[in-house]
Amino acid sequence: MDNLKEGKKIDTAKLLDPEVVLHPQISKWRDAITVDLKLLNSLKDGQIQDTVFRSKDGKYELLAGARRYFHQKLLGTSWEDIPKKILDDVSDSRALMLAASENIFRKDFNPWEEARAIVSLTTGGFKPKDLAKQFGKSEGYIRSRMALMQLPEKIRDRFEKKDIPIGYAEPVKKLDKYEEAQKKLLEKIVEGMSNRYSGIDTIEEADAFVTTILKQIKDKEELLVKYGPCPKCNSKSIGEGWQNDQLKCGDCNYSWHKETKEPWEYYETKQKLQEMGIKVEEGPETLKLTPRDVASMVTQKAEEQERLTREEGETLPANFRSKATLLMLLEPMITGDNIQKLEVRDERIEIQLIEGFDVYFNGLRKDYADGVSKARIETSGYSSDSTKKIHEWVNQYTPDASDK
Ligand SMILES: [Zn+2]
Repeated sequence: MDNLKEGKKIDTAKLLDPEVVLHPQISKWRDAITVDLKLLNSLKDGQIQDTVFRSKDGKYELLAGARRYFHQKLLGTSWEDIPKKILDDVSDSRALMLAASENIFRKDFNPWEEARAIVSLTTGGFKPKDLAKQFGKSEGYIRSRMALMQLPEKIRDRFEKKDIPIGYAEPVKKLDKYEEAQKKLLEKIVEGMSNRYSGIDTIEEADAFVTTILKQIKDKEELLVKYGPCPKCNSKSIGEGWQNDQLKCGDCNYSWHKETKEPWEYYETKQKLQEMGIKVEEGPETLKLTPRDVASMVTQKAEEQERLTREEGETLPANFRSKATLLMLLEPMITGDNIQKLEVRDERIEIQLIEGFDVYFNGLRKDYADGVSKARIETSGYSSDSTKKIHEWVNQYTPDASDK
């Protein structure tokens, strides 16, 4: 008795009288019974409420008052002296209800214990409506407890271990079919418990999160039905891109035009070319443009740029020249339908080729306009290798490119 510590787990199997068995549900519902010194002391002054048993198969099955019973045993009370009521002819379902009435919704029952108990009652044939009436709770309360037990065990663990407020169980449950989203919500809730600005810290916020996510998921599913999976990797995780008619793969990041199925970059380049009045001949995912086409596009852009520059009163730096014409540079690099992407933007052109290296020219100016004027070309590439190759080209055709 002296070595009893508040909160210490009671070894119930050791204390049980040989003639007593526990109702099989009670131990399933309850977490371990622990020492309660206050109860212990009050029992020394006498037990007001009887512990309830029913006779069953020559034994006594404990239905109600398990905590009182085990604390009496801690005090060394014999079976004969335990204050008790023994019921005869109690049906299994009534026994279950008796056990439940005594055990559920007591202060020392945590929500998870309540949830386990309620679920075993409903599987035992009781309806949520009847339980609500019996225990003086709303049906919604009963159902929300049932919802707890439908959460995957992993998720339940997190609720119990992280001490997540029980009210979040319903929104969390709504994402049951979507493990990733559910994990995210839980993380946000846990985060919200320490930082209300970055995480979720109200049930309303959790509900709003669920609504948004479910809508996103629904939208994605609709897209999938309508447009099919990713043309590149066959992933089903497809979503709207940033631009109209664009779809994007969540897995490989590929993007394409949802109707024409063309790679988005290709589609976009085509649109731009058409806007510039260039007739586009299409190959399979390549643009049929001759070096002359490209040169004239660049010329057109360069003229535009030159006009703007003149209006601003800017003059070309003296070293912005070389002996090469644009055509001279382009011709050896571009042959026929070898272009995947072409972009002419102010002073920069970018050409992605199907074969060979990608081409980047900076510093395009009016000098190209007649296709004969000299121009210096700054070059750059995404890799030092392609930069080097372009430089080699430029140097080959512009002997003075190096002496700036
Ligand atoms: Zn993909």
